[in-house]
Amino acid sequence: MRKFVYDFTEGNKDLKDLLGGKGANLAEMTNLGLPVPPGFTITTEACRHYLAEGDVPDGLAAEIAAHLEALETTMGKRLGDAADPLLVSVRSGAKFSMPGMMETVLNIGLNDASVLGLAKQSGNERFAWDSYRRLIQMFGKTVLGIEGELFEAALDELKGSRQDTDLDAGDLQRLVETYKGIVREQKGREFPSDPREQMELAIRAVFDSWNAPRAVLYRRQERIPAELGTAVNVVAMVFGNIGMDSGTGVAFTRDPGSGHQGVYGDYLQNAQGEDVVAGIRNTVPLQELERIDPASYRELLDIMSTLENHYRDLCDIEFTIERGKLWMLQTRVGKRTAGAAFCIATQLVDEGLIDMDEAVSRVSGDQLAQLMFPRFSATADNTRLTTGMNASPGAAVGKAVFTSAKAVELAGRGEQVILVRRETNPDDLAGMIAAQGVLTSRGGKTSHAAVVARGMGKTCVCGAEELVVDTRAGRFTAPGGVVVSEGDVISIDGSTGAVYLGEVPVVASPVMEYFEGGPVEDELVVAVDRIMRHADAVRRLAVRANADTPEDAARARAFGAQGIGLCRTEHMFLGDRRKLVEDLILASTDEERQAALDALEPLQKADFAGIFAAMDGLPVTIRLIDPPLHEFLPDYTELAVKVALAGDAADEKDRRLLDAVKRLHEQNPMLGLRGVRLGLVIPGLFAMQVRAIADAAKESANPRAEIMIPLVGAVQELESVREEALRILADKGVDAMVGTMIEVPRAALTAGQIAEAAEFFSFGTNDLTQMTWAFSRDDVESAFFGKYLDLGIFGVSPFESIDRDGVGRLMRIAVEEGRRTRPDLKIGICGEHGGDPASVHFCHEIGLDYVSCSPFRVAVARLEAGRAALTSDGSDTR
Ligand code: PEP
Ligand code: MG
Repeated sequence: MRKFVYDFTEGNKDLKDLLGGKGANLAEMTNLGLPVPPGFTITTEACRHYLAEGDVPDGLAAEIAAHLEALETTMGKRLGDAADPLLVSVRSGAKFSMPGMMETVLNIGLNDASVLGLAKQSGNERFAWDSYRRLIQMFGKTVLGIEGELFEAALDELKGSRQDTDLDAGDLQRLVETYKGIVREQKGREFPSDPREQMELAIRAVFDSWNAPRAVLYRRQERIPAELGTAVNVVAMVFGNIGMDSGTGVAFTRDPGSGHQGVYGDYLQNAQGEDVVAGIRNTVPLQELERIDPASYRELLDIMSTLENHYRDLCDIEFTIERGKLWMLQTRVGKRTAGAAFCIATQLVDEGLIDMDEAVSRVSGDQLAQLMFPRFSATADNTRLTTGMNASPGAAVGKAVFTSAKAVELAGRGEQVILVRRETNPDDLAGMIAAQGVLTSRGGKTSHAAVVARGMGKTCVCGAEELVVDTRAGRFTAPGGVVVSEGDVISIDGSTGAVYLGEVPVVASPVMEYFEGGPVEDELVVAVDRIMRHADAVRRLAVRANADTPEDAARARAFGAQGIGLCRTEHMFLGDRRKLVEDLILASTDEERQAALDALEPLQKADFAGIFAAMDGLPVTIRLIDPPLHEFLPDYTELAVKVALAGDAADEKDRRLLDAVKRLHEQNPMLGLRGVRLGLVIPGLFAMQVRAIADAAKESANPRAEIMIPLVGAVQELESVREEALRILADKGVDAMVGTMIEVPRAALTAGQIAEAAEFFSFGTNDLTQMTWAFSRDDVESAFFGKYLDLGIFGVSPFESIDRDGVGRLMRIAVEEGRRTRPDLKIGICGEHGGDPASVHFCHEIGLDYVSCSPFRVAVARLEAGRAALTSDGSDTR
């Protein structure tokens, strides 16, 4: 029979698929001999069954009962026992961490009888009633679906002007009665007093919370597959809210913001569970624990060092101290900022914990891209409103908004916004996604806002306590009485925690400057440099850039491009030269056409010479003109109006242009007269370009030209163009390869034939995706991709990341059949996918020789090509 429940002693950290991240790591810590409260994990498989069938699998109840019994034996207590109750928590825990997105219920096992037993056993009546009211509140909200505000309001009313901690046992006992009344009123039933029923309902609620709207949204944002399901952990409760010798906290083994070693975390005395993460009460820095409870502090530091050495990575942990006894409630490889990821990876190398291969795997191209963003100018003189905690780096500017809904609304209109809240909770997720940055007045570096923003790579300043945030009125007040209302522009610096009034100018990042030839001094730049060098040493894929001008080519080289994979020549026909193209199109005789071509040729030659000079010995793939000719002509409507208004006095050239526009009009221009078809239909056009390339090469010191024919679907198209090109090259005595793009599905499917006439292939995955899916690349993303993403038809746009199953299959066929014909066929990619991390890995996998992408993505592609060549999983912080 299938096993659905694992005791913590049975699992380990590599069973995340089955036990979720929390369960797998609790098991790992248990096996390391660390103080973990006993418990068991219900598998993700049981959850998947429940979600698919609407009920738990057969046998699950019996397995849970057996594990509960074993837990009761270990603890020497029975769940909800009236005299001395065992209490448990029921915690969600998916394979990838989804902070706060799913449910957790604490203190299960309390009822009117066992609360008295707990009071007696703990000798603390207040604590027992506080635990009971927390159970009803969490259970009511999570399991019974009652509006959380109702409980909050009852608590606020009871408190009046007092603090939570001022409430005594009698107050809390009364609150329990009020809460029970809320349950009765809202649900028409009593709060369930049977501990087993509480547990069973809580487990189902956790399963259900996998599909809560905020969890669905988070998964989409983080690209977490929807079908994984969550595990459920049932853990013996330990209490941080039993008195001032108890408490709860979170810690990182290193600073997740900078990577520096030290003690980073927050601690809250006399508090339970989620209080710290929720940012509800202000915490003290973890260092304070040394004073509060030195023995626990020392033990905690020891455990942190054990964990770092064991996981060989930054870990984050949650712990609770119950009457001076330390308990570990969770650990995982911690999320970190992009900068910290680079610094930590190289620090761990220096500490001998990992090697450079592993270090390269521990960072990502997306993180590198983040580091290339600009930062605020140090010389700006904007008013600094306050400084909060630097929770997630970056420089964000936008209009202050105070609700998630407003953030979504304004961002939808293309405005940049900063979401300002007292604290965020998982319901703010949509607003956080929409905003440039997040600012909160409460909560530490481990509050919800901080953790989620860091995970998204979004700028965040949290715990800016000097700000008085009034979300209802839509404003905050800064020290000195400065009032910032909704719509006022502010700037937040996630690297320093500073909050400024107005728009602060931004400057380039040191990492960007490094790529542009700047110094290698800054700690972060040193780490980036080491990792990039190693990635370059291990990668098999070469990286080229798509560049059309000498300036772009020079920038591409600075970023480490090893050649140009796509020089789009049509971009050379814009501006003043457009008129020459018009002349070409309007030519009605061979002489007129030749004159137009003759005028273009020297300009083209100069363009190519400039690029050859910039690339100096590196290969340059020049693509002959590709787009439909009417793209070079004036707009039909405008021209028609102009001619009509002029009447008889209309310019003769305008009339001819209008005729040409009409003649060349196509219903589907992307599928019309473009690419190689133009070369075949307009005599002399491609020949002019090839001559210009050959002449430029002859005059250049170190040219390496590769001539590329676009939009080929049949070898016959390529053959005739190629013959002409080879003739010209031979005449001029210039050596250049002639190859083709593979961007039409038929080309991929007949690649074996096409390779007869091509010395190289370059995948044009923009067109190949367009034609494989029959998606107009200009229209569909805004028209309906949102819906497709919602429906889960794909998790990411196929224009962004290669669709491995469809487009990718065509690519595999083309690589295989092309190389069968011509074993030394050089193959690359020059569609936008060339700079997308997942696509770079795919290109490595199918054996391409290079990827080519925009100059700014070159560094990302180099790093990802290095990672693709290594087998490690890297820092699995999700
Ligand atoms: C492509 O189709 O992928 C390509 C690189 O060409 P273009 O984007 O210019 O059509
Ligand atoms: Mg194309």
